[in-house]
Amino acid sequence: MTAGERIVVVGAGVAGLTTAVVLAEAGASVRVIAEQVPGVTSLAAGAMWGPYLVEPKNKVDQWGQRSLEILRELAKDPATGVRLTSGIEASRTAEAPPDWATTLPGFRLCEPTELPVGFSAGYRFTVPLIDMPTYLDYLLRRLHAAGGTIERRRLTSLAEVGPAPAIVNCTGLGAKDLLPDPDLRPTRGQHVVVTNPGLTEFFSEDTGLSPDLLCFYPHGDTVVLGGTAIDDEGGLAPDDMAAAGILARCIQVEPRLAQVRVLEHRIGVRPSRATVRMEAEPDEAAGTVVVHNYGHGGAGVTLSWGCAEEARKLLSAK
Ligand SMILES: Cc1cc2nc3c(=O)[nH]c(=O)nc-3n(C[C@H](O)[C@H](O)[C@H](O)COP(=O)(O)OP(=O)(O)OC[C@H]3O[C@@H](n4cnc5c(N)ncnc54)[C@H](O)[C@@H]3O)c2cc1C
Repeated sequence: MTAGERIVVVGAGVAGLTTAVVLAEAGASVRVIAEQVPGVTSLAAGAMWGPYLVEPKNKVDQWGQRSLEILRELAKDPATGVRLTSGIEASRTAEAPPDWATTLPGFRLCEPTELPVGFSAGYRFTVPLIDMPTYLDYLLRRLHAAGGTIERRRLTSLAEVGPAPAIVNCTGLGAKDLLPDPDLRPTRGQHVVVTNPGLTEFFSEDTGLSPDLLCFYPHGDTVVLGGTAIDDEGGLAPDDMAAAGILARCIQVEPRLAQVRVLEHRIGVRPSRATVRMEAEPDEAAGTVVVHNYGHGGAGVTLSWGCAEEARKLLSAK
């Protein structure tokens, strides 16, 4: 990658916007093309830093750690929507804490008295929580400040980008039809956003591979309640039964949530894949290189900065 090089980033979710920021701040002339600005899936995320439904582990650890460093820095400025927050992850089946949790600040095992009824083990730690509408707005502002531009447009193939020496494909689940990539599959998720009855700590249940999740993430005046992870489902219509189940599960753990007002339902479809696709694909006939950066499953926010920097390295090596 050279200073002033023209690069097109396709996609304006957390993957595309973060990549565009990294490239524009490194001196490239960046144009983002995307149908939705910002991406609906990214808007729907909770979001907590932490790997979930994503592979391969060695790269996920590396990308996740780099993103964690940057998100911690961003948490110093409240305008970013990132906050370092303490809370508990617990399980009903005495699961051991995952490696990634044990290295986080403030990590310790919970006393039985700290756990909600029905839970047999848990641990406490401090982690970045990200209020996604605020955070995606922040990324858009940062991209504009670095000279990046945005064009709203749906592509039916990457050839429709037009002549460009380099393209970064950050289309999330959209890559399934765009490329096409048959290895991508949808994992639908739903959140309920409510007024905050005074919560300052997050809670998350280690539910393994269950489609019914239980988590709540306070973001100042609001709390995001979760959730669901339904494999091979891709619709974006709110599901009233799922929302009622989310509220009931969260109220059981935190009775203050029985008093809240529902503000919004957020639905997104995680781009699930056996592994994140992060690779450069030269197209000599078209005189371009495409760097793919998609398929982040349930961890696109968690991996965003590490993956964006890897995309930049792949472009520099071309
Ligand atoms: C309910 C829920 C909770 C989640 N919680 C977390 C969490 O706590 N932590 C975490 O790290 N992750 C979480 N995730 C996962 C995270 O949201 C995703 O991994 C991430 O948003 C994927 O980002 P993306 O930019 O790849 O995709 P998207 O946000 O879907 O963006 C894709 C972009 O590509 C564009 N695009 C696609 N196809 C085309 C096309 N043909 N032409 C033009 N533009 C196109 C779209 O318009 C959009 O701008 C959650 C997801 C869900 C659904």
